[in-house]
Amino acid sequence: MEKRSCLECGEPLHGRADQKFCSDICRTAYHNRMHAEKNTIIRHVNAVLRKNRNILEKLNPQGKTKVSKEKLLSEGFNFSYFTNTYTTKTGKTYHYCYDQGYLPIEGNWYFLVRKQEYIDR
Ligand SMILES: [Zn+2]
Repeated sequence: MEKRSCLECGEPLHGRADQKFCSDICRTAYHNRMHAEKNTIIRHVNAVLRKNRNILEKLNPQGKTKVSKEKLLSEGFNFSYFTNTYTTKTGKTYHYCYDQGYLPIEGNWYFLVRKQEYIDR
């Protein structure tokens, strides 16, 4: 029979086959830690999205503009994170960070828009 040990402290377990923890203390500690790790991931993603949104807003005060990819990258923009996309009838896909969107255009340039302004060009 396979030897089992507590998921939290590693102590050998001698109870039922489905036992995972040696005590309620270890069970609680384990679940609290898992919860904390999950919240850390969510906080990290939220921070990246908020930063992206603030960069777009800063570079696009009028609600419509063109910026270079280099400019976005130099501000610390992270292209891997966005909240949603919008594809126009002609097949152009805007990526959004909340209300601030961007569309890649020719030559490493990006067209920036604010929500509801799905300009097709
Ligand atoms: Zn334990």
